[in-house]
Amino acid sequence: MTTHAIDEQASGHQFQGQAIKTLLILGASGDLTGRLLLPGLARLVRHGKAEGITLVGAGSDAWSTEDWQERLATSFAAASPDTGTRNDDGALEQICAGSTYHQVDVTAEGSLAELIAGLQPPVAIYFALPPAVSEKACATLEPEDLPDGSRLVMEKPFGTDRESATRLNTILGRLVPEDHIHRVDHFLGKATVLNILGLRFANRLLEPVWNSLHIDSVDIVFDEKLTLENRARYYDGAGALKDMIQSHLLQVMALIAMNAPSTLHERDLRDHIGTVLRASSVHPDFRSSTRRARYTAGSIDGREVPNYVDESGVDPSRGTETLAEIVVSINNERWAGVPFRLRSGKSLGRTRKEAVITFKPVNHLPDGFTGVDSPTRLRIGFGPDTLELDLDVNGPGDVFCLDRATLQAELNASELLPYGEVLDGVLSGDPTLSVRGDTAEDCWRIVEPVLEAWKANDVPMDEYPAGSAGPSNWSTAEVGGEK
Ligand code: NDP
Repeated sequence: MTTHAIDEQASGHQFQGQAIKTLLILGASGDLTGRLLLPGLARLVRHGKAEGITLVGAGSDAWSTEDWQERLATSFAAASPDTGTRNDDGALEQICAGSTYHQVDVTAEGSLAELIAGLQPPVAIYFALPPAVSEKACATLEPEDLPDGSRLVMEKPFGTDRESATRLNTILGRLVPEDHIHRVDHFLGKATVLNILGLRFANRLLEPVWNSLHIDSVDIVFDEKLTLENRARYYDGAGALKDMIQSHLLQVMALIAMNAPSTLHERDLRDHIGTVLRASSVHPDFRSSTRRARYTAGSIDGREVPNYVDESGVDPSRGTETLAEIVVSINNERWAGVPFRLRSGKSLGRTRKEAVITFKPVNHLPDGFTGVDSPTRLRIGFGPDTLELDLDVNGPGDVFCLDRATLQAELNASELLPYGEVLDGVLSGDPTLSVRGDTAEDCWRIVEPVLEAWKANDVPMDEYPAGSAGPSNWSTAEVGGEK
């Protein structure tokens, strides 16, 4: 067996850069496939991409190809028909009619290899499976099972802990070169998240103040009203820290904190993301640098929500948190002393998805000014996609009484939506929006000590009623300020 080093990436592969001919989705009956992947593919096709792709579904369900095609037609039809630059319903029908389904246990020795051997190369294999199943499935493959140019697409969480992520990287490295591995973090396919790069690096205004001299703190918040939504099988084994912070929010933090790359080439960009995450850690006094909580019964928008521990499929002995917050330090010259607070939770009273940059006050405000005294902030909203910048200006009436003005902009969301962007990268062979192997391991390194401390009950498990702002002993005002 050969190990593909990163330096070998650019050389020799017959299908390097060549468009994928077959997309094989493992876990075809799963939630991700139905709700996100198939609609994402439909949007791509409606934009004239993914031309002539053959779609193959596989899973443990005893479906016929006709069952699968019916499901495809429904998912494609549901994927906003209003988008697209051309009428590609014919192309979608063609994909549907040419698609086949295969019942297979992907962890059974040889089963996957046999399936892949019958497909037209190059093939992209999307592991839309539970993480532990993906690892087992990869472990059954040999390099010779994969036709040249194959791409492997791994979902988040990548592995179940640092050790398994390292093991998975080793297995994947034996199978294909690093740039043929797409570790999906669909937040990197969100247009607003990528807009952070344009905002930071294309505006003279921001970069000079983007450091600890001028910035007091950074909050990255992803609070949802959504409850378990029948996903206990996955979520109860993960929790808020692994589900959201370990992957998505650390990637957002990296885009906010990284130095400017000289190009947007995948190696430059991913090197810079990797560098800033390597410098990041959570202070080992976990009682002050982390918090966790779990929801109790409550109501959200008039809907009754049961206690988390009473939800079907939840095992209370796991002690899974539904709200997590960690303060990350970035130990470099630019960010020393600036807390990056990352928070995410379910079943909260309001949806809040944003990064908030809180600026320090001016060094000296001329005596005589009165008025607002709260800090100015830049808010980057991730849905709806917005920008808001606070400025304190002379107000009406008493002109020396300051008034808070907030400049607002709405950003255009990508019509492809995150999974359209993800699939576009996979099918066209561009790994820029995927997480590099070393970075995936580093994200585990950052959160693993926290997980251990929580497991040892070093940090109390707080509670909050579903539909509330969080535990009553947590001040929400300190998380990026109230709006
Ligand atoms: P589901 O549990 O809904 O689906 C998993 C799929 O894998 C099912 O179709 C299941 O079939 C199949 N499967 C399990 N074991 C085997 C096996 N041995 N052989 C063949 N098929 C098997 O999970 P999700 O779709 O929600 O998640 C899949 C991945 O995507 C996870 O890594 C998750 O973290 C990630 N993800 C999911 C998101 C979502 O919103 N759902 C969002 C972002 C990432 P069966 O049901 O018959 O067992």
